Amino acid sequence: MPAPGDNDGVTSADILKPRLPSPLQEVADDRFARHGVRLLLKRDDLIHPDLVGNKWRKLVPNIEAAAGRPLLTFGGAYSNHLRATAAAGRLLGLPTVGVVRGDELAGRPLNPSLARCAADGMRLHFVDRSMYRRKAEPETLAGLLRAAAAEDAYVVPEGGSNAAAVRGCRALGEELRGRADVVAVACGTGGTLAGLAAGLGAGQRVLGVPVLKGDFLDGEIARLQAEAFGGRRGDWSLDERFHCGGYGRTTPELHAFAADFEARHSLAVERLYVAKLLYGLVELATEGAFARGTAVAAVITA
Ligand SMILES: *Cc1c(COP(=O)(O)O)cnc(C)c1O
Repeated sequence: MPAPGDNDGVTSADILKPRLPSPLQEVADDRFARHGVRLLLKRDDLIHPDLVGNKWRKLVPNIEAAAGRPLLTFGGAYSNHLRATAAAGRLLGLPTVGVVRGDELAGRPLNPSLARCAADGMRLHFVDRSMYRRKAEPETLAGLLRAAAAEDAYVVPEGGSNAAAVRGCRALGEELRGRADVVAVACGTGGTLAGLAAGLGAGQRVLGVPVLKGDFLDGEIARLQAEAFGGRRGDWSLDERFHCGGYGRTTPELHAFAADFEARHSLAVERLYVAKLLYGLVELATEGAFARGTAVAAVITA
């Protein structure tokens, strides 16, 4: 298999064969139809079988920038980003290092998500929470790279969101040009939204549903867009009401909603991001937040 650094014209994107553009499917849902609203599903979950979630779009530009160096990145014990990075490493024959939050995890059996990372060849390096919080500070990062014996690594930030990733997500918006009035996406770090908003056409807007609690995300998305594009791009806003208490938190109501949506539309609804997004959209449609004739595209990220 060609290595990512090989100069024979085969790119990592070729090896990590994506299904792009991802399919856009209209579904019949009376909770939208009764308000004259169309619901479309943008199936980013179908881009790649092994790169969990929408992570292909964010990861591939970084793999290309890494030019064959090992990839080092960060995540919690259930991070989809760590899983996707590990899977890409296996498929490309690229060493990967995962810095995992929580040194108490080091002596224990790995949970299924981290076990998958390890099986894909990712070297796991556990750090305590206070160091993890300071990982972006240059001295802490340098110490971490030394401790992980990965000083030559290309560093991808937590959640995979940096300028390269954001520019990669612009293609998601470009695929949706002229196809919907509102594009809705669940947000973790906000990198996907930052790129998506920049790729859409005039008259289209993005609605972000943060799955984490806290009002940091507006500023973070503005910062990511400034880093990637030199300033704010596109028409976007966030609705902070649907995180269910924070990352990883769910309610019985959310589970019931997701199970019902699965039964209606034969779609497996991932609970930590996608369920919160769809729940928010049904709530907004019910409130009459979308004018009659609006086409809403929900990005199914996993
Ligand atoms: C990572 C992820 C997102 C969005 O990620 P951002 O960090 O906001 O770019 C959405 N859904 C799923 C399932 C994800 O794994």
